[in-house]
Amino acid sequence: MTKLTDLTMTEALAGLEAKKFSAVELADAHIAAMESETARGMNAFITETPDVAREGAKASDARRAKGEAGAMDGIPLAIKDLFCTKGVRTTAASKILENFVPTYESTVTSKLFGAGAVMLGKVNLDQFAMGSGGVTSAFEPVISPWSGAEPAKAARKLVPGGSSSGSAASVAARIAMGATGTDTGGSIRQPASVAGIVGIKPTYGRCSRWGIVAFASSLDQAGPMTRSVGDAALMLRTMAGFDEKDSTSVDVAVPDYVAALGGSVKGMKVGLPREYRIDGINPETDALWQKGAQMLRDAGAEVVEVSLPHTKYALPVYYIIAPAEASSNLARYDGVRFGLRVDGENLNDMYAATRFAGFGKEVRRRIMIGTYVLSSGYYDAYYRKAQRVRRLIREDFEKAFEKCDAILTPAAPGTAFAIGEKQDDPLQMYLEDVFTVTLNLAGLPGICVPVGLASNGLPMGLQLIGRAFDESTLFTAAGALEKAAGFAAKPAFTA
Ligand code: GLN
Repeated sequence: MTKLTDLTMTEALAGLEAKKFSAVELADAHIAAMESETARGMNAFITETPDVAREGAKASDARRAKGEAGAMDGIPLAIKDLFCTKGVRTTAASKILENFVPTYESTVTSKLFGAGAVMLGKVNLDQFAMGSGGVTSAFEPVISPWSGAEPAKAARKLVPGGSSSGSAASVAARIAMGATGTDTGGSIRQPASVAGIVGIKPTYGRCSRWGIVAFASSLDQAGPMTRSVGDAALMLRTMAGFDEKDSTSVDVAVPDYVAALGGSVKGMKVGLPREYRIDGINPETDALWQKGAQMLRDAGAEVVEVSLPHTKYALPVYYIIAPAEASSNLARYDGVRFGLRVDGENLNDMYAATRFAGFGKEVRRRIMIGTYVLSSGYYDAYYRKAQRVRRLIREDFEKAFEKCDAILTPAAPGTAFAIGEKQDDPLQMYLEDVFTVTLNLAGLPGICVPVGLASNGLPMGLQLIGRAFDESTLFTAAGALEKAAGFAAKPAFTA
């Protein structure tokens, strides 16, 4: 029999229903994986909660015995440490929240646990989700389970992408069946690509942001990270839905994404944006992209060229809007209301000492940029202008979707980089999101599917972009791509 930790959620649910194993056995297998030396060497978890998992699994078995099992009953998940979990500390991988224990549960995690899912623990990330490699965490970086074909590269430890780094690593390494992620500029899709798993950022407003530590409120979205498109469909269906506690969540029905999977792409129009063949695109990324387009063509889709002319402004616009919103969201960590306090001579000293000790370098950089672009005299020149260009980026997509039903692009510029590699050059790090940020600016959904290995033996994924609230079309196309690609590679280090 396949190892329990190798099963997809869909397979595990069938096994539980057929009484091949219990939820307690399933949880125990994943707890053993989480507590193994291999797993701990990856540093994917900030807080392990084996007792919570065992209790959850026991309750799950009892529900199933009574015929009351929910849609995800007994499935062990890793939760990004940005989701507030009642009674379990939630750090955002920062010093300032190192000892913060929420008294409430985020809407998304409460929906998952309400459907029976079991929490293994809280996973590591870039501090306040700011980063692309997990290296800004105050709890040390996450190490990718992938080592690649080049021994020299393996010796230099690789990142699993970011900011949902622990989510990606724990799912790829078979420690968790799935994980929650958040995506402000690419933090679900880029790590999914780099770690060889599936990740979807739904339409802005699809999942409630309530109880998720805020980074940039007009861009943040939660989404699932899994090892198959089917699991992503199942998990998103559970996570999504209107929430009156989040004024930006949207009251539209959540379709049955799992049903969309079996659909055919025959006649579907898939656009390839001309501008994404930017100067200097990695030839392997380009080749994989063209291969993916051919796979969809072979499955019956029609591939057309589209244009997204304002793409080149996306990163500059993002790095004005995201820090602006972050600087205002992070103002609440003042040493009074949450977390850490470092005393000072007077109130102002206390603020400064607390924030200096509590925030890492990247977070402080963003607060300074954000405060600058919002300050009087610069507001029009930067923030307002960025908002205008943001609208143009959204209009680009509206025009493109007159010609196609989904857009196919690379998900990340290349494969995993080594820890330390892009650390001293923020611009290199920011470029990791060149293919993903446009969607956050436009509020559109995007899914990353693993498609192949590069010549260095490391995974690469492709991204499919859809119309607002049309995740179903994405699941249909992603299902076809997954089937054609048949990605079966496993990382060297699995628990
Ligand atoms: N890498 C991007 C950033 O650093 C996106 C992060 C995210 O999506 N949370 O802002």
